[in-house]
Amino acid sequence: MRRRTVVVGAGLGGLATAALLAKKGCDVTVLEKNDSPGGRARVWEDRGFLFDMGPSWYLMPEAFDRYFGLFGRSPSDVLSLVRLDPQFRVFSGTEDVYDVRDALSANAGLFDRLEPDGAAKTERYLEKAREQYDLSVRHFLYRDYDGLSDFLDKKIIKNGLRLGFVGSVHGQASKEIRDERLQQILEFTMVFIGGAPKKTPGFYALMSSIVLDQGVWYPMGGITTVVKALHELGLSQGVRYEFGCPARRIRTEAGRAVEVLTDRGAFPADAVVSNADYHHTETALLDEGGRTYNERYWRRRVLSPSALILYVGLNRRVEGLVHHNLYFEKDWGRHFDTVFSRPAWPESFSYYVSCPSKTDPATAPAGMENLFFLVPVAPGLEDSDQAREAFAGRVLDHFERLTGERITPNIVVRRVFSGRDFISDYNTYQGTAFGLSHTLFQTAVFRPRRRSRRVGNLYFAGQYPHPGVGMPMVLISAELAAERVAREL
Ligand SMILES: Cc1cc2nc3c(=O)[nH]c(=O)nc-3n(C[C@H](O)[C@H](O)[C@H](O)COP(=O)(O)OP(=O)(O)OC[C@H]3O[C@@H](n4cnc5c(N)ncnc54)[C@H](O)[C@@H]3O)c2cc1C
Repeated sequence: MRRRTVVVGAGLGGLATAALLAKKGCDVTVLEKNDSPGGRARVWEDRGFLFDMGPSWYLMPEAFDRYFGLFGRSPSDVLSLVRLDPQFRVFSGTEDVYDVRDALSANAGLFDRLEPDGAAKTERYLEKAREQYDLSVRHFLYRDYDGLSDFLDKKIIKNGLRLGFVGSVHGQASKEIRDERLQQILEFTMVFIGGAPKKTPGFYALMSSIVLDQGVWYPMGGITTVVKALHELGLSQGVRYEFGCPARRIRTEAGRAVEVLTDRGAFPADAVVSNADYHHTETALLDEGGRTYNERYWRRRVLSPSALILYVGLNRRVEGLVHHNLYFEKDWGRHFDTVFSRPAWPESFSYYVSCPSKTDPATAPAGMENLFFLVPVAPGLEDSDQAREAFAGRVLDHFERLTGERITPNIVVRRVFSGRDFISDYNTYQGTAFGLSHTLFQTAVFRPRRRSRRVGNLYFAGQYPHPGVGMPMVLISAELAAERVAREL
């Protein structure tokens, strides 16, 4: 008889795991609380505007190649990928604007302008980042860790120092580069993995190689086409999906999950894979005796930021933007402090503006513009209508002053999404946008376990277990989860 596997959650992690499990011969049902797939990567459509609600940077294409390759396919069979040039535009304070180009060599003039010998110094930084990337792909990313002894194997110990487990990304960058603007270009991606450059191990400098060497990609039609591709892959493998069907309880007997209870009835299971947030799974779906981690454990985690996101549809085009735009405060440390040390709505803030309509006509009606503003903020902030609207107003004011474009009268679609929406829409812990931050002690073996310690056939997929946050990592997590489940079933 085919083994019955119930996957809780149809985020990218749940979709990717379900398709692989079905390919391995399991009978798979996915239960998703929302009416559509994608989780944090869902899409929202209004009056001809199509907003990717979460991710917008398609990075590390080889992770997607590898995942689709497991099905004998290639991303290009299902996605229409374009490589963006410029990769992104930086507004450095209010004084300077520059583009980071796709070909590294095309940035030499810019890097030299920001710092004497900046191109050569950046190249030295990238050489190390490339080595870190290469070592981590070969020895570190595509494997799971059950305990410290797994982690401390010879290769990891031998390469640990070179990998940069000691020291921070900021430390690694500032060793080579003094200019803060150039450091920001190399460090901003730490926010992608839910961290601050001074608190994220040097090893994650590999993100700079991922961006500057491997390119910034975009699937025409939006990130939602990735979600659709994974959903369709699952359908082709025989996965069944129940949307609008939250899991209410994972019922256990003698330390094993036996069924998942929903308002549509009970779904019997030989194994359960939860893609829902780890804290939600353990506290809302299991009895206390079934939990691996207690509240104290969660209170002591470093959470990644939440975010104030503003989806804006404009009835005209905006000059002065490219697809990805970043505004960096000169002293961005004050903003990081309000996220990680002294939680508050930030007084001064850096932010990201995505404008996919610069590349993709499918995202806005003709002659109009699709804008997505994201400001990282602390998780767990008071998120009243008044507080979020006041902050959203400040973001728009700042943007208008920065670009000299008065856009407010041209807004035809507007939606604010923040901490409380992350909680109500995805059951996230404290409204965190990206889950657990990638500090040293929340990396690899120190991330929450792939398999529950108390419920023998309950597994976790998605961004909480190793290797962590981001679409490519979630695909790797799916591969590791599916292998483990199939092996142990
Ligand atoms: C604003 C934002 C921007 C980002 N930008 C990028 C980017 O540019 N590039 C990149 O690579 N990554 C980016 N990321 C990170 C990336 O989107 C995530 O790491 C990834 O989507 C997480 O997928 P997941 O499957 O682990 O979790 P989720 O997407 O959260 O999926 C979990 C699913 O479980 C469901 N669920 C919860 N509780 C239940 C229940 N009781 N029953 C049934 N279902 C339940 C939820 O509804 C959800 O669908 C971004 C994330 C955010 C939030």
